[in-house]
Amino acid sequence: PCSRWKKDDDARLKVSFEFFPPRTEAMEKRLWEAVTTLAPLGPRFMSVTYGAGGSTRERTHNTVRRILHETNVTPAAHLTCVGASRDEVDAVARDYWAAGVRHLVALRGDPPEGVGQGFQPHPEGYANAAELVAGLKAIADFDISVAAYPEVHPEAVSPEADLDNLRRKVDAGANRLITQYFFDVADFLRFRDRVSDAGITTPLVPGILPVSNFDTVARFSAACGARIPLWLERLFEGLDDDPATRQLVAATVASEQCLALQGEGIDEFHFYTLNRAELVKAICRMLGVCPDRQERVRQAPARPAALQES
Ligand code: FAD
Repeated sequence: PCSRWKKDDDARLKVSFEFFPPRTEAMEKRLWEAVTTLAPLGPRFMSVTYGAGGSTRERTHNTVRRILHETNVTPAAHLTCVGASRDEVDAVARDYWAAGVRHLVALRGDPPEGVGQGFQPHPEGYANAAELVAGLKAIADFDISVAAYPEVHPEAVSPEADLDNLRRKVDAGANRLITQYFFDVADFLRFRDRVSDAGITTPLVPGILPVSNFDTVARFSAACGARIPLWLERLFEGLDDDPATRQLVAATVASEQCLALQGEGIDEFHFYTLNRAELVKAICRMLGVCPDRQERVRQAPARPAALQES
């Protein structure tokens, strides 16, 4: 048997999955297919993003509630403070608490024009994610995840300043650090060393983005400061019209990335699913994360009578 499969259930890798709120009925259907496909993998939580400037407030809330009520997975709601007063943000958080949602991913968010376009806090708002975390913790004892940047946030004046900012979020009460996606394992490992050298012991969870569409990822990466290594570009060269091969390459790249991280002692991963289950399901399987055997037996179609043992 493959050595990465652990016999001991406690030694199993922990995973979490991120989704975005759907805009249309068709998207809702696809999202829900992804949620129900991935839920049996037993994730620690499933999180739902918050559109720029709170534009998806209702849709995020509805998706989070649906995960809460229709699955046995813990939901996590992303919440940003851009373009909103403290009172507005606090009201959203209180609604979540009242609805039974206990996990928030607390983020500053970006101006509508995009990252790096000069964030201006709302005059009565939280100025950054650290302030937001403190405000949320004052409302209730939420489990709070925050963002971390292995390749440094594009607006940070220096890597040291970015690390100081991370420490402020931890000091404000963050329970988990989820990283922006990255492709070079070495970048993450260097960052992990810097975080640990800074005395930060809060769990640091790598964010993994399977590359289903290289061009889209390349465009997005330029804005958010994630570097696209040349080897990755080469791997997807000439595959624009070949989605089947792209999928296989994407699953292989992300599996290799996760296995390399696992070899370095990482035992928890956060996947940016883009509301599609197939790639993430395959990668999880490569890591030995698959539905409980019991669950699989229950779900397996009955064998035809002729094949059953007498
Ligand atoms: P902060 O931690 O506040 O930091 C932002 C920048 O400002 C950093 O460069 C920091 O160093 C600097 N900074 C902050 N405070 C100070 C200070 N006092 N002095 C000097 N510099 C300071 N965006 C969404 O809109 N919706 C989402 O659902 C969403 N989900 C995300 C999930 C993850 C896991 C990640 C990694 C990102 C997500 N984002 C989301 C993107 C995020 O909103 C952007 O990256 C945003 O630009 C920064 O948010 P932050 O919470 O990291 O901000």
